[in-house]
Amino acid sequence: MDKKEKAEKVALLLQKKHPNPKTELTHSDEYQLAISVMLSAQTTDKKVNQVTPALFNKYPSWEALASADTSEVTALIRQVNFHKGKAQRIVDAARTVLSLYNGVLPHGMAELMKLPGVARKSANVIMQELWGIAEGIVVDTHVSRVTTRLGLTSQKDPKKIEEDLINLLPKKYWRNFSGSAVLHGRYVCTARKPKCGECVLNEICPSAYNV
Ligand code: SF4
Repeated sequence: MDKKEKAEKVALLLQKKHPNPKTELTHSDEYQLAISVMLSAQTTDKKVNQVTPALFNKYPSWEALASADTSEVTALIRQVNFHKGKAQRIVDAARTVLSLYNGVLPHGMAELMKLPGVARKSANVIMQELWGIAEGIVVDTHVSRVTTRLGLTSQKDPKKIEEDLINLLPKKYWRNFSGSAVLHGRYVCTARKPKCGECVLNEICPSAYNV
């Protein structure tokens, strides 16, 4: 089996296990999902979900957040990592959505990346979760770990890992793989003590029982 065949097999097995993977960030509209994704950088979804109810209660829309006092936003999200910088960025992002996009989140990668706090990974998550658009593959800490252990990449930089995966996988898999590989890394191929015995990939993984 060459590398492309292996990548496709991995994608198919993960798709079978997670046919419709969804983000674990709690949200009820586009605004809430986008802000939650921005807050989730280097922070667990669980932690983000703890702070967003109060945040969205006080600032329920792009308009409300755009006119917020940043120090009050900082206080509301202080439990997440890098809260000061993130508070400034989400307020700036809200102002940018209003000034550049008339208060509507844009649907393209380049446009989303003009928002402060939105890099390629966040833009991929937002587009795939909200509109089912896959312009790339989400590469977070979980996907980096899983794909490295599977021998699908030897890169360290997320952008280069994404390039490797894009070259290996036909586009039809990108959307599902982005969600299913995150869940696989979060719950099975964990950083410490991966659960190789219950892993659907253990017959094709070179790191099985050897991490
Ligand atoms: S077999 Fe083990 S190391 Fe390989 S993907 Fe599965 S959990 Fe991770």
